[in-house]
Amino acid sequence: MKQIFVLALFTLYSAAWGAKVYTVETAPKPALFNKSYVSDPDHVLKDETIRQINKQIYFLEQVTTDQIAVVILPSINWASSKEFARRLYNRYRIGQQDKDNGLLIFVVMKPFRVEFETGLGMEGVLPEETCHHIVKEYMTPYFKEGDYDRAILEGLTAVIKVLNDPQNKDALSDGRTTDPQALEKIIVWILAVPYLLFMSVFYFVKKSKGAFTEDYAKLSEAKKKNVSLTIPRWRWLLLYFFLPLFFYAGMIYFYTGPYYTATLIAGAYGMILLTLVDKKSRCEKAYAGSYKEGDYFNQYNQFSRYFDNWGIAAIFFPVPFLFTDAQNNKKLQAIRKHERSCTACGTAMGLLDEKKEDQYLRKSQILEESIKSVDYDVWLCPACDTHYALGYNSKFSKYKACSYCGTKASFLKSDIAKVPPTHSGSGTGEKTFQCMYCKKTSLEEYVIPPLAVAANKV
Ligand SMILES: [Zn+2]
Ligand SMILES: [Zn+2]
Repeated sequence: MKQIFVLALFTLYSAAWGAKVYTVETAPKPALFNKSYVSDPDHVLKDETIRQINKQIYFLEQVTTDQIAVVILPSINWASSKEFARRLYNRYRIGQQDKDNGLLIFVVMKPFRVEFETGLGMEGVLPEETCHHIVKEYMTPYFKEGDYDRAILEGLTAVIKVLNDPQNKDALSDGRTTDPQALEKIIVWILAVPYLLFMSVFYFVKKSKGAFTEDYAKLSEAKKKNVSLTIPRWRWLLLYFFLPLFFYAGMIYFYTGPYYTATLIAGAYGMILLTLVDKKSRCEKAYAGSYKEGDYFNQYNQFSRYFDNWGIAAIFFPVPFLFTDAQNNKKLQAIRKHERSCTACGTAMGLLDEKKEDQYLRKSQILEESIKSVDYDVWLCPACDTHYALGYNSKFSKYKACSYCGTKASFLKSDIAKVPPTHSGSGTGEKTFQCMYCKKTSLEEYVIPPLAVAANKV
């Protein structure tokens, strides 16, 4: 009862001072797992300072696995800040759990206290005297001047220096001699140099092949078929060379905040998406420009094949490629139904409806339409009666072209194992196809691989 009374008084006292009182339970925990090592609910430190602290501790952790948390609270509900720090250290689980190599730098503003709480795995290198020395020599002078940012940064630098000192190697686990700054540079070199080398070689290969151009109309027929290889030089350099480089260097040098990995992955994803969207728009422009006026049937088939190839992009990039499908279909329909003039007399031709078109179709074509393997458009000139039928293959038909009459009406009638496979030898299968139009059957033999031998039977 007396304790509660004291606590209540203390809380009132602190409230009068305007400082929020934290308990071990309510002190906000830094997101250690996310490379954010600072908890500063009252915003005592500048954002820039927190960014620097996070960066330094992050690289220390990468090299040594040691972990440091910095916690600055306006006021606490305990008389002993040392005991409070010890409990906070345990609650936050700082450091690797099997090594207990964590350090909590704990600052209370009212009344002002600084505590260093170390895990068992760190006491060897950072004994209490060393901690006291660091606070007294590197931090207190700046705290006295009210420069909390500098005090924390100087103290942290001193701590990291001790943890990285080769003389302390024996007292610590292995591999602590690397300078965190050096590690940054090593990462940059390891990843950036091969990328630059590869892209430089790639650039000169493309250049020697004449793959850089802006004028798609001037492309040779062979290149029009593989227009995706063609890109303006400045665009290629920007998208594939400089942009990834700037992004990567930026991540390494400037960004150390929370969600580091997520930002890196999202950035890479965005960059790949950007190149894909760019490629798609370029190719489309090139295709559209590479067809003679009136060559709609060819254009339709080319675009149709081209759009199919982009379908795979929707698996990894549902936005926007899942939604471009409707647009692609609209474009295909526009090409398919585009008005055209008679090649004989120049009159505008008419597209016949499903009922009227049958008299211009062969029996085999009418059958194909009825089983939906091919959809025909019949165009008719009202002036000279010139007409032609254009067939559009269904993508999802079970029928394939008959090897006798060519009608797309051949279906798989039976599939039998003529010679069954054994464990030692392969077998033979036979597929029988029958044509719905000419009724002829065709056979197709294929090899069945030997049966797999179960491991326990060997
Ligand atoms: Zn005509
Ligand atoms: Zn047939």
